[in-house]
Amino acid sequence: MPDLTPGVPSALSPLVRRIVARNPGPFTGPGTNTYLVGIDEVAVIDPGPDDKGHVDAIVGASMKERVRWVLLTHTHPDHWPAAKRLVKSTGAELLMFTKREKGVDLVPDRVIKEGDTIEGSEFGLEVLHTPGHAPNHVCFLLEEERMLFTGDTVLDGMYSVVNPSRGGDMAVYMKTLERLKKLRLRGIAPGHGDVIEEPKVRLDDYIAHRRQREQQVLRLLKKRDGAKVVELVGDIYGNDGLPPELVEAAGWQVHAHLIKLKADGKVTGTTAKAAWRVA
Ligand SMILES: [Zn+2]
Repeated sequence: MPDLTPGVPSALSPLVRRIVARNPGPFTGPGTNTYLVGIDEVAVIDPGPDDKGHVDAIVGASMKERVRWVLLTHTHPDHWPAAKRLVKSTGAELLMFTKREKGVDLVPDRVIKEGDTIEGSEFGLEVLHTPGHAPNHVCFLLEEERMLFTGDTVLDGMYSVVNPSRGGDMAVYMKTLERLKKLRLRGIAPGHGDVIEEPKVRLDDYIAHRRQREQQVLRLLKKRDGAKVVELVGDIYGNDGLPPELVEAAGWQVHAHLIKLKADGKVTGTTAKAAWRVA
């Protein structure tokens, strides 16, 4: 069983290796997963936080010149900052879904789009635009192994955060999950946690969880018309059910659900601090 010890490369399949970064936490699980796809020509997916030791581990796992591409699932700070150092030390080509991203100090060598394939000598990685967690989020499908690299769209051991103040969109996210469910997958390699061996079961669970939460938010609001997000969070998790950093994240989720319910014509309201009402 490949382990999740930071800094240690572990082989997940003939073509895929994983190195976990040293940034464990409530939102990153054991740490960010960096994936190395290919042997002779390597694509690195999500180099992670800017940590020299982690970049050394990535470079050390292959011969420098074999690292040909650096790919990002999205530009949240636990996924991209090592890209600069990695590109510098390997000469790899940096591929991004967007040309420029606010607060992201990277200039791509090439912009990739939905449907593109990164062709290595041993593999093809197809680009799927999968917005929801972030507007610029992409997944990569390794055709040879039907393995999907999902970044933060699907995780192991926790649910993904959809934060409206960072571009998260629940309605779009749920459409993305439905789309992923239609792919024939053998495995999911998430941005955090271990490989998911039963992709369909996990995707069904993710979709059911979001639908149930949406219904719960609507039910609670019917009982407590004019509630603010923080009050609904208290109703859902209990007053001392969650540590403070997770209370904030729970608020983002509830707000994201309310925005979707508003688009569906079921509730009215604006910000997290505003009063929300049943339409
Ligand atoms: Zn992440």
